[in-house]
Amino acid sequence: MAAAVEPRWRQATFIQDVRSRVSASQLTRFQKMYTEPFFVINVDPVVPAPVRMRLTVSGSQQATYVVTLQSTGLFKCSCKDAIMTCRRNGCVCKHVCFVLYRVLRHEGLDFFDNLQLTPDEVGSIASRASQIQIQEVDRSNPPHVAPRPDQLHFDFCHSKRPHQIEAGDDCPICFDALLGSDVMRFCPECGNGVHQTCIVKWMEHRSTCVYCRSKLWSNYRGD
Ligand SMILES: [Zn+2]
Ligand SMILES: [Zn+2]
Ligand SMILES: [Zn+2]
Ligand SMILES: [Zn+2]
Repeated sequence: MAAAVEPRWRQATFIQDVRSRVSASQLTRFQKMYTEPFFVINVDPVVPAPVRMRLTVSGSQQATYVVTLQSTGLFKCSCKDAIMTCRRNGCVCKHVCFVLYRVLRHEGLDFFDNLQLTPDEVGSIASRASQIQIQEVDRSNPPHVAPRPDQLHFDFCHSKRPHQIEAGDDCPICFDALLGSDVMRFCPECGNGVHQTCIVKWMEHRSTCVYCRSKLWSNYRGD
């Protein structure tokens, strides 16, 4: 198996580069990307100008926050920190750090100089956003016969065979690696895997499979 290249945000040198580059208030927020749970609950790449991309993010609590990228290259977040503090401190909130560097895999650090992406960067970020969480359903195997909802207990004895997880496969909700994680759940309809904690979080806000939009998940109880 070929070793997949770790994304930039997971490379040890990256956090060192960030540390030498950004203000203390920015570093505090950036480091939360590694120490706090973050989940992408919705991606909306088709939004009216001047907004180029809109993501809904959640953390350890129930609350959700909306991160938008404007065509000017500036980010906005609906969280209190972004509105009350970040502007004054000349930094971006932890949700913007998570979205830009972990979800959308931006690698450059020039962003932190003026907290604005270049027009080229806006284009590539927006096109990357349009590719995530919108995945083709694998129809090569016919879907299994779905159990009645009252029978659905997610022991996965009815399930399509789970897809093999490989190096480089990331969870579509937290955007961290799937390989090596202990607790996973596989969609009975499409066979794709997610972290169990992430699908529990997802189901607090959504009702269908993160990959294939299967409604089988609506009775999932988080076990
Ligand atoms: Zn925020
Ligand atoms: Zn069963
Ligand atoms: Zn996850
Ligand atoms: Zn599915």
